[in-house]
Amino acid sequence: MYSGIQSELSGKLAAIKAEGLYKDERVIATPQSAAITVEGGSEVLNFCANNYLGLADSPLLKSAAAKALEDWGYGLASVRFICGTQSPHKLLEKKAAEFLGMEDAILFSSCFDANGAVFEPLLDEDCAIITDSLNHASIIDGVRLCKAKRWVFKHADMRDIEEVDPDTDRTAKGLERCLKESFGARIRMIATDGVFSMDGDIARLPEICDLAEKYDALVMVDDSHATGFMGKRGRGTWEHCGVGGRVDIITTTFGKALGGASGGVIASKAEVVEYLRQKARPYLFSNSLAPSIVGGTLAALELLKSSTELKDRLESNAALFRKLMVVAGFDLRPGVHPICPVMLYDEKLAHDMADALLAEGIYVVGFSFPVVPKGKARIRVQLSAAHSPEQIERAVRAFEKVGRKLGVLGR
Ligand SMILES: *Cc1c(COP(=O)(O)O)cnc(C)c1O
Repeated sequence: MYSGIQSELSGKLAAIKAEGLYKDERVIATPQSAAITVEGGSEVLNFCANNYLGLADSPLLKSAAAKALEDWGYGLASVRFICGTQSPHKLLEKKAAEFLGMEDAILFSSCFDANGAVFEPLLDEDCAIITDSLNHASIIDGVRLCKAKRWVFKHADMRDIEEVDPDTDRTAKGLERCLKESFGARIRMIATDGVFSMDGDIARLPEICDLAEKYDALVMVDDSHATGFMGKRGRGTWEHCGVGGRVDIITTTFGKALGGASGGVIASKAEVVEYLRQKARPYLFSNSLAPSIVGGTLAALELLKSSTELKDRLESNAALFRKLMVVAGFDLRPGVHPICPVMLYDEKLAHDMADALLAEGIYVVGFSFPVVPKGKARIRVQLSAAHSPEQIERAVRAFEKVGRKLGVLGR
């Protein structure tokens, strides 16, 4: 029986390779950090992790995780509602809700699961979900699992319009048009990433919240690329945008700035969380978060509440990189986020440049179609609080050297 699908898969794999879309994984031979070793290679500076606050190898988090491992065991071997809840799980839910400015929170194995859990229980076929066209794959999948009618608005377009999008040649609508068209739906929910990971741009939350209030819709924000460092106290895009209390549901990950292990959360009003505990399938039918992860995440939240030092360092690192790169003559997507897209436009150039930079000891990744639109290829550089100013300067010098060699600079 296997031979049929085997030849089909071999053909598909060959096609993926022929299109240049095959994803190879580099193996890291050290813990995740600013400087890492890739297997079979030498030490490189890592500028492509979501390790925004440098906590992935934090001694503080490691010892908190080790202590939780000792005190609470390796695993729960149960879902939460059968016999998988310990006091640290309850404490983390309380602390995560506080950190996110919400009444309550519910834990998941990942934010992918949180997004798979959040829509289906709350929205039925007589409801509407209105979602940004560039939302993360996990939001898209979560929306697919729910019966609500779906409207997609053009990325970050708030207007009451429908027009042909020159990028895609398809008609696209703005958010306000989608809200008007979905009139009559019992419950409407606007869903958006807080920060969009390809450009590092921030959702227009003040306008989204205004429109939500005008049209009586709920607002759901996935803050995976913001929790821990955006906003004055690092609470996320809602704090950065000054919309505290106006966002109804926040989902986020523990797998990025908060230590980078794994785990996710939905934070919301008390009734929403209480209801999700009864109905959310990835909560009801998947194992409880491991105690060590719970302990490490609790330590991360405590640390971030006690000081803004790490997020301040991340901000100044991102500002330094952006400034030096612009001075050097590179074309950066403007912004404030530690995701810094270095625009090269040409797909092959982005790929070659990333390879050449790795040879110079700078680990970055080129992104090209279909991850970003055709002709918008770039290298996505991600800064971390773990980088030193010297390491950032070294990266910029490598960019300059390679950029000159490949004709990106000095044309
Ligand atoms: C990374 C990411 C996720 C997935 O988070 P995991 O906890 O790794 O599953 C979900 N949404 C967004 C916007 C992300 O960037």
